Amino acid sequence: MGMPAAARVGVIGGTGFADIEGLQDRREVHIATPFGPPSDAYTLGSLQGIPLAFLPRHGRGHHVQPTDVNAHANIFGFKRLGVEFLISVSACGSLREEFAPQHIIVPDQLYDHTRHRVSTFFGNGIVAHVSFAQPYCPALGDVLFESGQDVDVALHKGGAYICMEGPQFSTKAESEVYRRWGMDVIGMTAVPEAKLAREAEICYATLACVTDYDVWHDTAGEVTVEMVVENLHQNVDHAKEIVRRAITALPAEREGCPCPTALANAIITAPESVPPAQRATLDLLVGKYL
Ligand SMILES: [Zn+2]
Repeated sequence: MGMPAAARVGVIGGTGFADIEGLQDRREVHIATPFGPPSDAYTLGSLQGIPLAFLPRHGRGHHVQPTDVNAHANIFGFKRLGVEFLISVSACGSLREEFAPQHIIVPDQLYDHTRHRVSTFFGNGIVAHVSFAQPYCPALGDVLFESGQDVDVALHKGGAYICMEGPQFSTKAESEVYRRWGMDVIGMTAVPEAKLAREAEICYATLACVTDYDVWHDTAGEVTVEMVVENLHQNVDHAKEIVRRAITALPAEREGCPCPTALANAIITAPESVPPAQRATLDLLVGKYL
């Protein structure tokens, strides 16, 4: 409310990615949402001349655990800022030999294995079923992958990300099951973030930074926070370089992906049945359709 469209591109940083350097005209803005406060203030500024909004997913100082990340507020805040493209950066474990620590994956599939998270903006009298066969924006994923070609990092395109509840890392039995399911990387934060981004009609894709081999790998031993953080510091520099390149490569018009019109045929509730309070709450998302 009263918020100008401040940025077309958003970046949400995961573990180890708590800030974005080199922003011109840097400023911070706190955004109130109907879902409570986002993880922190958004940092606004421009990078390579492109207006950008940055948010650390776990808050500055990393004080919000995955289960408690207020993804509803975080995504709603980006929407309010005018963000159309949201680049997510997150740490993950690898479930495949060829995805080694310090590699980066641009996943194209997602398996929701969370247990305690509300994963929709809808409910309370309004029902919507968005298509989610392609959970990550294929167009934004292409831009991220292409932008990484000149960065000195092993970058892989495609793969299935399984989102576990955490905060504990996997048991060996779980890790083996996920591998048999065909999963490629494992993390704790893609859900409900990706689902809510789609409901908000924001193009969303991820740079999944491999920090460890989870626990299935013979050489891996136990996954420890120390191991994760050490590999992540290497990873984050690469991810930031890819982000820097990607934001200048984004198309002027969004096309070739399901995101911008995700809600067009998704709302099943008769408009006259939608409770006025809920219509008001979700106006930013559904106003153009109701
Ligand atoms: Zn898209």
